Amino acid sequence: MSQDNAVPFRAEMRQLLHILTHSLYSDREIFLRELLSNAADAINRVRFVQLTDTDVRNADLEPAISIHIDADANTITISDTGSGMTRDELAENLGTIAKSGTKAMLESLDAGQRGDLVGQFGVGFYSAFVVADRVTVVSQSYLPDADAAEWECDGNDTFVIRAATRAERGTTITLHLKEDAKEFASEWKLKQIIQKHSRYIPVPIMIGEDIVNDTQALWRVAPRTVEASQYTDFYQQLTYEMDEPLATVHLSTDAPIDLHALLFIPAKRERGMIERRIEGNIALYSRRVLIQAETKEALPSWLRFMEGVVDSEDLPLNVSREMVQGSATMARIKKTLTSRVIKEINDMAATDPEKFAAFWNEFGIFFKEGIAVDPSAKDEILPLLRFHTSTDDALSTLDAYITRMKPDQTEIYYVHANDLASAKQSPHLDAVHARGIEALLLTDMVDPFMMQHVREVQGKKLRNLDDPDVVLPGEDAAQTSTMDDAQLLAVVEGFKQVLGSRIDGVQASQVLRNHPLRLVATANSDMERMRRMIERDTSAPTRKVEFNQAHPIITGVASRLAHNPNDAIAAAVIEQLYASAQLLDGSALDPAAMVKRLETLMQAAVSAPLE
Ligand code: ADP
Ligand code: MG
Repeated sequence: MSQDNAVPFRAEMRQLLHILTHSLYSDREIFLRELLSNAADAINRVRFVQLTDTDVRNADLEPAISIHIDADANTITISDTGSGMTRDELAENLGTIAKSGTKAMLESLDAGQRGDLVGQFGVGFYSAFVVADRVTVVSQSYLPDADAAEWECDGNDTFVIRAATRAERGTTITLHLKEDAKEFASEWKLKQIIQKHSRYIPVPIMIGEDIVNDTQALWRVAPRTVEASQYTDFYQQLTYEMDEPLATVHLSTDAPIDLHALLFIPAKRERGMIERRIEGNIALYSRRVLIQAETKEALPSWLRFMEGVVDSEDLPLNVSREMVQGSATMARIKKTLTSRVIKEINDMAATDPEKFAAFWNEFGIFFKEGIAVDPSAKDEILPLLRFHTSTDDALSTLDAYITRMKPDQTEIYYVHANDLASAKQSPHLDAVHARGIEALLLTDMVDPFMMQHVREVQGKKLRNLDDPDVVLPGEDAAQTSTMDDAQLLAVVEGFKQVLGSRIDGVQASQVLRNHPLRLVATANSDMERMRRMIERDTSAPTRKVEFNQAHPIITGVASRLAHNPNDAIAAAVIEQLYASAQLLDGSALDPAAMVKRLETLMQAAVSAPLE
């Protein structure tokens, strides 16, 4: 590359610049957040190198970012003492898009969302062009042999790289502000933006003689001196979210290990519009150096929805990303943090049931999944589990359920459904309702997987109520039927004829009270549910039909069949009873056939003689 030659941006880069400069208008101030975060990253990068390598340029340089405003020239200059960039790095880092698909992603968002997300897509630097029509970057790399270089671009199709001089290691970015962005050439304005977006950057940001941010990392401050609003601000700057966190865990101790952690339970499982898979959003620091931005080892996988910062001086000096995994200190940190988070969750449940319900609604499935994938954590997780039940709208623990069990009840009962309203209407509950017994209502996909591992609590087995062999404790009023044997037989034959091989038998039920029909399992239906989910099998599972011989729909079917064994309406009713029971169980469903059938039935209903 000859000096001062204009290098064309690749097409994608050009389009990206265009999108950014034209869409971030209402959010222009975020350029500062992005440039400051790059400067802080660069300072962290050189600190990280220095953990193991002393041969860096200006090894004793203090970490700092300074901002200078020249109102006459209409420029803002941001200098840092970070890693700097070599000439090649300038061309590479500021001339290409690191992540593929970035442009498509940004295009798919509306302008309001772009501002929040620009930093997460590895294109934060280019937000400079939202306020500047010319940007120069002069940089001196930490590598002792590298020469300083300058990158310059006027926001159009090309950039220029030339030799430069810079006394010390670091980077200086000069923004030549656009006419309509002069407002940013103001100390007051910049200070305000820093308070809003960059207050907790753990590096001093200087404007003139003043340090304008909180350089003392919040997680290292004594928890009792921190105000709630500081936690919220920190959380919002960390996560780019607008909500308050659901809960905050702040722990700062020197013994038995040095551990400073500031962790948050986010308000929502998913972030904003973009589904971001949550996995280990914990930033790990040691000796004020960010070791790893997304640390999975700080908490068990079932707490991976937590976000925050963990800082320990006790991690080995040469801690590398690989070493974090095997480190004994890390294992202790994980243990300490896990019990603190569990305590926080328990406190929330005890003091603020409403908030806890919101928490469980968002994050309950992580715990259920935890039991399924990490059986060794079962004892830890079990007390945290909460369930909706058939008798109470409040969430219940398994222990609390057990205290409410009938004296002669030996098992914990449950039903599966696809949603809570269906579960509450489950025909399998008829029998327990009649006896005043409570059942758990399971509606999450992961529930059958979890149940395979829970199996028994305090010696009480868990039992699916669709099991025809369940023996319920207590008396139940005797079932009275108006049907004679011939009618019973007609019903049984009718079901067999209509449903044929789709069912595995028909019988009059001993337990149904309010519902006309239920489908009972012929084998472990939880296993079958799991298999069907894994294999994405949407065909109807084979079940045995139990009908309620006292139910008016069934007696009505009986008299029609007694009159004519091939009665079309009776056949449609049988089909629909079967489909309705499947619907409540959350198994197969054929909407097209159901709509057709309902039309037949409605036709019959409106044709009935007027009263
Ligand atoms: P990201 O920060 O997500 O990587 P950016 O567009 O903000 O994306 O920055 C692009 C790259 O430019 C950075 O990854 C870094 O390598 C380099 N860079 C930007 N600013 C600086 C700086 N002040 N010092 C050193 N390198 C920088
Ligand atoms: Mg960046």
